[in-house]
Amino acid sequence: MPSADDLRRILDRIDGRGYKAYHEIKGSFEFPRFTLFVDHVQGDPFANPSKLRIRMPMSEARLPPDWFDGPVRRMACEDFLARCVSTAIGGGESHRRGSGKSGVVQIDAGAQEVLERTAAVVTPDWIEIRLQLGLPAAGRRVLGRQAQAMLCRDLPRIAESGLCWAELPHREATRFVECIENQQAIRGRLDELGLVAFVGDGALLPRASGASDRPLRGSQAVPFASPESLRVSLSLPNPIERPDGPGREITGMGIRRGVTLIVGGGYHGKSTLLRALERGVYPHVPGDGREWVVSAPDLVKIRAEDGRRVERVDISAFISDLPQGRSTRAFCSEDASGSTSQAANILEAIEVGATGLLLDEDTSATNFMVRDARMQALVHKEFEPITPFLERVRELYDTWGVSTVLVMGGCGDYFDVADCVIAMREFRPVDVTDEARRIAASHATGRRIETRSPLKKCADRIPLAESFDPSRGRRDVKIDAKAIDLILFGDEVIDLRGVEQLVDPSQTRAVGNAIHLATRRFAKGGATLRQVIAQLEDFFDNHGLDELDPFHRAEQHPGNLARPRGFEIAAAINRLRTLRIRQGPTASE
Ligand code: ADP
Ligand code: MG
Repeated sequence: MPSADDLRRILDRIDGRGYKAYHEIKGSFEFPRFTLFVDHVQGDPFANPSKLRIRMPMSEARLPPDWFDGPVRRMACEDFLARCVSTAIGGGESHRRGSGKSGVVQIDAGAQEVLERTAAVVTPDWIEIRLQLGLPAAGRRVLGRQAQAMLCRDLPRIAESGLCWAELPHREATRFVECIENQQAIRGRLDELGLVAFVGDGALLPRASGASDRPLRGSQAVPFASPESLRVSLSLPNPIERPDGPGREITGMGIRRGVTLIVGGGYHGKSTLLRALERGVYPHVPGDGREWVVSAPDLVKIRAEDGRRVERVDISAFISDLPQGRSTRAFCSEDASGSTSQAANILEAIEVGATGLLLDEDTSATNFMVRDARMQALVHKEFEPITPFLERVRELYDTWGVSTVLVMGGCGDYFDVADCVIAMREFRPVDVTDEARRIAASHATGRRIETRSPLKKCADRIPLAESFDPSRGRRDVKIDAKAIDLILFGDEVIDLRGVEQLVDPSQTRAVGNAIHLATRRFAKGGATLRQVIAQLEDFFDNHGLDELDPFHRAEQHPGNLARPRGFEIAAAINRLRTLRIRQGPTASE
C-alpha cells in the first residue's frame, strides 16, 4: 500500500494542475498510526466535498474494551468519538484554503440527541471515522501544498486528538457512555413498570429559544419535580451525581399506561413537557436537561396536518358517512382536512406498532378533539361525520392497548375518560386526578355518547412497489434530503413538516434512502407496510446503516446517516404522493 510519503509526492506533482488531477489520490495510504482511504474525489472545488475515511487500529487508539462493550455502549462511544473529532477539527474561517469548499473538514456529529450514526464505527480491532473534506484549489487549480498540510499534517493531528484514548477526556468519556446506558436501562424497564414515560426529578425541560434545542439556563428555568403520588424510584446500572452524593437511585414522575391528561393554564409549561416526551424516545447527551426524560420507544406524536395526501387508510373509527357517501374504510385524499389528516396520522401510527400517542391541543383540529353538548344539539349526528377523539381515546387503550398523553387545557370533557390528570402550575406538575374526578361527577357535561360502533380491526395496507420511482432525469436514483423535513425522492417532494419526531437531518437522509431500500428489497410478495417496516428495522439491526447509500460499495462510505425510527420511515412513505396501496382482505365488511 502507498505510504503517506507517496501521497505527499503525488500532491507535489499535481500542484498547480487542473482540479481533475486530484483523482490520482483516490485509494488508500498507510500513515504511521492509521490508514487513510480516499473514497470519493469531488469533481470540482464547488461540488460536494470529497469523502475520506481514517481507520486506526485499536492497538493505536487503545480504547478501554469495557468502554464500548455491548450495543448501547458502542453506539454511545461512536457518537462520543464523532463529537471529539468534530472538536478536534475546530471550525470557522481559519479552515478556508482557497475557492469553493477548499479546506473544509467535516464529520457528521450529533446534536442534543444520541443516535446510531455512520460517522464513526468502533470494532474490537479498529476505529473508523468518515470525513467530508474540501480538497483545496485556487480557482480550479490544485493547491498541492495546502492539500499536503490538510491530509498529511492536520488529519493525523485530528485523528490523534479525536481517537486516541491517551488524548481523550477520560472522565467525560466515561460519564457520557454511562449516562446513555442509564437512559437505555430506564427505557428498557418502562414496560414492566407499566409506564409509557419517565421524567426525572431535576430535569430541565425548557429550551433556550424556539430556534435552539439547547437547554434554557439561568435562574428562571424551573427544574422538574414529580408530584409525590406519581413518583417512582429506579435503580440504574451506573452511578449518577445527586445533591446528596453519587448513587444509583433515580426518582421521577412515572406516566402510566392508559389515558393521561396534561392540563393547566396557558403558558404554564404543558407543551414543553409534551415536547420533552416526544424527544424522549431518543437518548440525550449529558447536560441536555432532558437526559432523564425517557419515553417508550414507540410513542408517536400526532397532529393535524391539513393538505397532506392520504392513501387508503381506514379512518372509519373517527370519520364516517362523509358527504356524497364517500367511504372511509379506504379513505383517500390529495388534500386532507385537519380532522381527516389527524385521524389518518393516528391509524397509520398504530398500523406500524405505536403503543402510545402524544397529542397537543395546540396542533390538533378542534372538531377532531371535541364536540360538546350544545353542538350536539345544534348539528345533528346525522350531519357530523366525525366521532371525536374524546369518544375513542378510552377504547384505543382498552381494545388495542394504545395509550394517550394529551395536552388539553381547553376542554374538561376529557376528565371522564382520563386515568390520570396532571396539572402544570408555574412549570410544576401537580396530580389533580382526584379533583378532576370529583368535578366530573358533580358537573355533568350534558353530552351524549354518539359512537355508533366499536373499534374494528383495520385492513392491512400493502404498498405497491411500482408506485415508488426514485429516478430523476438521466439518474436512476436521485434522493436528497433538502432539509430535516423535506425529501426529494425522484421527481417527488415528500413534505415531513408534520412529522415532528425527526430530530436530525441525517435521519431524514436515511429515511429517503430507506424508502428506496425497502421498496427494492422488502415490498414484494404482498408484504404489508407493517411487515416492510419490520424487515427494514431487522436489516438495520443486523447490517447497520451503511448499506442505505444507494451507491454503497464495499470501499465507499455514507458518513452522514443517522438511524430513524420505523415510524418516521412509514410516515414518509405515507406522505409520498405517488404511493399506491392495495388493501388486504380484512377490509371487506
Ligand atoms: P403551555 O403549553 O402551557 O401554554 P409552554 O409549554 O408553551 O406553555 O411554555 C410557555 C413558556 O414557558 C415557554 O417559553 C417555555 O420555554 C417556558 N417554560 C416551560 N417550562 C419551563 C420551566 N420548567 N422553566 C422555565 N420556563 C419554562
Ligand atoms: Mg401549549
